[in-house]
Amino acid sequence: APAANTVARTSALNMVQQLDLKTGQSQLDTSVVDRFSALPYPDDKVLAEYVWVDAKGECRSKTRTLPVARTEAVDKLPNWNFDGSSTDQAPGDDSEVILRPCRIFKDPFRPRAHGLDNNLVMCDTYTPAGEAIPTNTRAIAAKAFEGKEDEEVWFGLEQEFTPLQPRPTHSPRLAQEPVSQPRSGPYYSSAGPENSFGRAVTDAMYRCCLYAGLEISGTNGEVMPGQQEYQIGPCVGIDAGDQLFMSRYILQRVCEEFQVYCTLHPKPITDEDWNGAGMHTNDSTKSMREAGGLDIIKQAIYKLGAKHKEHIAIYGEGNELRLTGKFETASMDEFSFGVANRGASVRIGRDTEAEEMLGYFEDRKPQFPNADPYLVTGKRSWLPIIMEDI
Ligand code: ADP
Ligand code: MN
Ligand code: MN
Ligand code: MN
Ligand code: MN
Repeated sequence: APAANTVARTSALNMVQQLDLKTGQSQLDTSVVDRFSALPYPDDKVLAEYVWVDAKGECRSKTRTLPVARTEAVDKLPNWNFDGSSTDQAPGDDSEVILRPCRIFKDPFRPRAHGLDNNLVMCDTYTPAGEAIPTNTRAIAAKAFEGKEDEEVWFGLEQEFTPLQPRPTHSPRLAQEPVSQPRSGPYYSSAGPENSFGRAVTDAMYRCCLYAGLEISGTNGEVMPGQQEYQIGPCVGIDAGDQLFMSRYILQRVCEEFQVYCTLHPKPITDEDWNGAGMHTNDSTKSMREAGGLDIIKQAIYKLGAKHKEHIAIYGEGNELRLTGKFETASMDEFSFGVANRGASVRIGRDTEAEEMLGYFEDRKPQFPNADPYLVTGKRSWLPIIMEDI
């Protein structure tokens, strides 16, 4: 790796201004872009951006023009297709993958006047014969949730991400030179020019998510300089996965506009003692939120513990780098839980313990911020049947 000192380190915001020098990409002239965005277009047409999850778990998208009437509800949207041979999702001689719309949002990147909206459309993926393709984890989760609607499983997903210098061919470097030691440093939930970097990116993303109609519940600065978190939820069942993937897509689009590179890697910086990143998953069922809920939560946690290894296996590659038992994580091999304990696998909040109702618990193990939210939430669809099962 090149010596850290030989690398010019800049804040995330400086990075925005300087990126063209580093990558050769031309700078965005916003006044030119605005001129074209302001052009009116026919009121009977809507642009629909079809978004899907690719073979690496990242979002891709393409746009089509639709008559307004076809975008009024998700079940009116037509299926579409893409070239799966270009995304490793289909062979070249039978390359068509079918996109089935499953959730519709407003498009914050193409706003328009007159109360009309363009749309972002979350889709899942099928063969022309109608079978879910192997990377369609939504279909697996949807099946797992089937018939369990009565328990109204809620999820709150904490999505962490880390802006890095745009140097994809070198070892990663933080976007901002840390001036303080790792841990208990000044960056977590911080303010001030010497502590907080890239707030504009998070705020823009926050606004876009609200405009789109996502249940984004908050945001905070994280432990590494420039690192951020936002939370999606509570969302019911499969909707948590749909919303989380759409929020990641929105984050990527915002980063594109700012020309800032953000990673969802669990341990972006390994040569220093920094916290990693993750996707804590908060769960509750209807009975956990009612009187006596704490008992149900405890039973659910024991059951989660019994299946610890199965759950760890679906949280994604790279967990071993992160779940070391240090830096507010629990060891990957042992299961533990505690009230307000951020070193445990599962944490029960003090409010939940005190009130013995209205409760939920936090699973701190999904430590891969690029974990597949369909798999993570779908795997928990067993929660509603906890009582019969124990
Ligand atoms: P932490 O204290 O671990 O940082 P956060 O505030 O970041 O927690 O995230 C908590 C998440 O849990 C939020 O998305 C919130 O909407 C969600 N949440 C709140 N109540 C419930 C509930 N009853 N069931 C599931 N998720 C919930
Ligand atoms: Mn084409
Ligand atoms: Mn949090
Ligand atoms: Mn966090
Ligand atoms: Mn958390």
